[in-house]
Amino acid sequence: MDSQAEVATADDDKPEIGLGDLLAPVRGSLILACALQAIGSLAGVIPFIAVAELGRELLDDADSDRLWTIVIVAAVALVVRIGFFFAAAGVTHFADNDFQLAIRRRIAAHLGSLPLGWFDDHDAGDVNKLMADDVAAMHPIVGHTFIDITNTAVTAIASMVYLFVIDWRMALITLIPFVAGLGLYGLMMSGYTERMETYNQSLADVNSASIEFVQGIAVVKTFGQSGRAHDRYRTSTSGFISSFWEWVKGLLRVASLSDLVLSPLATLTTISAAGIFFVDRGTLSIGDLLVFLSIGLAMTAPVLTLGFAANDMQIAGAAAGRIAAVLATPPLPQAADPIVPATNELRLDGVSFGYGEDAPVVLHDVDLSFEPGTLTAVVGPSGSGKTTLGRLLCRFWDPTAGSITLGGVDLRDIESAEMYRRVGFVFQDVQLIRASVADNIRLARPDATMDQVRAAARAAQIHDRIEELPGGYEAVVGEGATLSGGERQRLSIARAIIADTPILVLDEATAFADPESEAAVQDALSTLVAGRTLIVIAHRLSTITGADRIVVLDAGRVVESGTHQELVDAGGLYSNQWAADSRVRTEVG
Ligand code: ADP
Repeated sequence: MDSQAEVATADDDKPEIGLGDLLAPVRGSLILACALQAIGSLAGVIPFIAVAELGRELLDDADSDRLWTIVIVAAVALVVRIGFFFAAAGVTHFADNDFQLAIRRRIAAHLGSLPLGWFDDHDAGDVNKLMADDVAAMHPIVGHTFIDITNTAVTAIASMVYLFVIDWRMALITLIPFVAGLGLYGLMMSGYTERMETYNQSLADVNSASIEFVQGIAVVKTFGQSGRAHDRYRTSTSGFISSFWEWVKGLLRVASLSDLVLSPLATLTTISAAGIFFVDRGTLSIGDLLVFLSIGLAMTAPVLTLGFAANDMQIAGAAAGRIAAVLATPPLPQAADPIVPATNELRLDGVSFGYGEDAPVVLHDVDLSFEPGTLTAVVGPSGSGKTTLGRLLCRFWDPTAGSITLGGVDLRDIESAEMYRRVGFVFQDVQLIRASVADNIRLARPDATMDQVRAAARAAQIHDRIEELPGGYEAVVGEGATLSGGERQRLSIARAIIADTPILVLDEATAFADPESEAAVQDALSTLVAGRTLIVIAHRLSTITGADRIVVLDAGRVVESGTHQELVDAGGLYSNQWAADSRVRTEVG
């Protein structure tokens, strides 16, 4: 389902949204933070230079005034460093607050503009993960990455400039562990994403094997298959262990090597070895060697912090990618000059539709018109495109070819709010809000009176059940009021009745999910149809025999259309299905 969803939302002209674009609201703060960090990093190099200078002074008969000056300069630089680092981190953390708010608002606004069909493929959990977890996971990027990189770069460049001034040969040698460490680090990161994917895949295998094992435990025990069930679990865990080991082995080797090369000890050893060589030959003073030992340490420390943050940065990068992908999903186009339709006649002309560019065509060249005040049932085998047709009528998606018009106006030229005042729907995914049952029913018309609310509930066959709730109509959904799936559906039908849209598209299978007498279902349908166009996506034939017209879909094409009797007489797909259903009904009954 999910991969299909990706196809459905993928579009060739999807705008590319990069990290720079996501970070646009805090660009100024990030630049300021990097500038503060750069000053702090420059100041941070000074104490190291001071230590080296102190050493040099002490070696050549120091003058105590000069020594004190160096100490004071170092102390001041240290304070400046701390102050500026603190300020930079403060700026990025405030920026992160602003960023999280801005990006959440942007995601929320974008979600509001997406086709309703997008929400069929992405549930509340997906949206919550995106808005809460993924946004929060970007913290390292805004809060740390930029200032950490600035710190590493400025410290390294400033140190190198100073070292080259002192002795270019030694400066080049000091660079060796630094460059080697960075090279190894790059090696460690290359192919990281693919390795992470293999790792995630085997982790997912273990999870599904565990779930399968736990869920099936009763069956497994009953049928004495525990050995087999254990096997699947065992295979997937050993698969996980070996892929984890492969991943960690490669990573550990390179990571420990790069840590070793960049460690203060390795830097000091390299510099000492080369230094002693030059000092021996009389081409380097001991004082200058001290400079290299001290500054060498200053350079490697920030690189190590970057290494530690690498994992967080990978996670943050992946989260940013998911956010960017949703933001890049094209919104449902809105009419530039909306037209208000004069009537409520709904028509489809040559409508074809596929979920995405390369996905199979689900509806082929459908022509239909729904006369105001009639009940049309859409039936057909599973997968024939009934649900898709119902969703297109409510503009969950736009047709790939052809047009759907309301009062002669293409749905794409009608303002969304205007359209949903005219077209209502009751589909599977009923959204109830945490409010009283009455408020849930009058959601579309908050000024509806209690009498109207009760009348709607009666028509939707839910009134008696509501009366039984503690608090009745005032019971709060999710607190006092616990409703079954079918009851929630009826509540949403009551809501649709109050909303009083001239056209109502209803999914019969879910709307009447409770085992109810067919008479009650028929009653509910006839109440609903009063004065409006009702389109019922029907999964059972017995409830819609009274429809004004039955449209039969097969493999995405309209193959028959007529009243129940006409279709039974015609002897086609409908009549075969009706005969088969009747046999089942007689046998069961
Ligand atoms: P019906 O309601 O008649 O069972 P549907 O309209 O649900 O048929 O499905 C028609 C076809 O469209 C099926 O092949 C189904 O797999 C496909 N389909 C339905 N929903 C989606 C979706 N969100 N993304 C991709 N394909 C879909």
